[in-house]
Amino acid sequence: MTDYARHEHHDFLGAVGQALADVSLQSALVRLTDTLMAGNRRGYAALADSGPLRDHAKQIKEHTLAHLDKYLEQLEASVQRLGGYVHYAADAEEARRIIVGIAQQSGCKHAVKSKSMTSEEVHLNPALEAAGIEVTETDFGEFIIQLAGERPSHLVAPAVHHTRESIARVLSQHVGHPLPDDPKSLALTGRRLLRDKFHAADMGITGGNFAVAETGTIALVTNEGNGRLTTTWPRVHVALVGMEKVIPRLADLPVFLKLLARAATGQTLSIYTTLITGPRRAGELDGPEEFHLVLLDNGRSKVLGTPFRESLQCIRCGACLNACPVYRRIGGHAYGGVYSGPIGSILTPLYDSVAENPHLPHASSLCGACQAACPVKINIPHMLIGLRELQHHAKPNRWERLAYRLWREVLRRPFLYRLALRAARLTLRPLARKGWFSKLPGPGAGWTDVRDFPAPAAKSFREMWRKL
Ligand code: SF4
Repeated sequence: MTDYARHEHHDFLGAVGQALADVSLQSALVRLTDTLMAGNRRGYAALADSGPLRDHAKQIKEHTLAHLDKYLEQLEASVQRLGGYVHYAADAEEARRIIVGIAQQSGCKHAVKSKSMTSEEVHLNPALEAAGIEVTETDFGEFIIQLAGERPSHLVAPAVHHTRESIARVLSQHVGHPLPDDPKSLALTGRRLLRDKFHAADMGITGGNFAVAETGTIALVTNEGNGRLTTTWPRVHVALVGMEKVIPRLADLPVFLKLLARAATGQTLSIYTTLITGPRRAGELDGPEEFHLVLLDNGRSKVLGTPFRESLQCIRCGACLNACPVYRRIGGHAYGGVYSGPIGSILTPLYDSVAENPHLPHASSLCGACQAACPVKINIPHMLIGLRELQHHAKPNRWERLAYRLWREVLRRPFLYRLALRAARLTLRPLARKGWFSKLPGPGAGWTDVRDFPAPAAKSFREMWRKL
């Protein structure tokens, strides 16, 4: 099993119950996901060619994944040509060892980090801290959840579960005196605290939204400018990037930049798009003396040759989370893994284990809203059904099999089917209230615990048809 950032023994159903009962979480989720979804629709509508552009993005991803070995080698050669170092991490443990090793060899003691889900995936912060290296998250939302000792609950809005009151509480505790819960002064406090950290930092750690094979460029998309400070101020820069983030050419980058911010927030572009092409060169005023690119596998290559390869096309925009009726009610923490929402329900079982995450493939109504919102049109419902199928084959349910076998036999014989319908109508209808059951016994209770079940109709469609 891959070393993957998931809570051991996570109680999914228990966490769902807690999330549903948390009134402030419910209102924060509605507020955020409504705003971001409206942005997503506005963003696509503002593009004259959003359909073809999304298809184009998908084709680039499909092509890259089909030739991933070639593009990774090209990326490695490009980064080395610029004077950077490339490391391959097969799993989370190796990624931690490589990055801690870079810090130790370069004598770094203070690291600043811009938002990176990949670093969450490999549990990087505890490993750095255990090696005596102070690490500070510099995205404001990530900074708050680091101070609160929590995990991100959304791909692009990691502190969505916090209100301004709770942020004021966390920051007040950190500075040691009460702060007003006014957003502007909270942001200024965060800015002052983080500036001090940037001044002291000797190592900057980032993820990478895209890695361009042709030029060795790492593209970072942020809204706060912290990514730019993280990559220019400290003398060592480490970019930890999932190996599926490679794209062939610099000319492919605008296709994704046009889509990413629009899908995520509805912005035309994120506020900062930073292109890092190697370490500082002679005559340049800023930039790191050393640049390291760590390419992470951690379960990705295992997915490459399976019907779930399409999940590697994800550009982590978060749009499927905002669109999903399940995420909108339960938030990110309930999923138990670092990636949440519909795409998390695929990535966590695939990178971690299908058997250890039995509920995730079922945490979806399969309504397709995720696919409609996705900038690369990933067929998430199809893959969720595929995971359910894997679960079924790994652990067949005897009773379910028997039920389907019986149902097959009945469907094959019209007279049996009619007889079964008549029997169901005669026995069940008198027990229903106004055509509905509010309580069913046995496994049926799983349905009626949360909604009513319709009683058989007084007349079947065939009977009505014949009469007509
Ligand atoms: S699956 Fe699509 S919508 Fe969801 S985060 Fe990835 S790119 Fe965005």
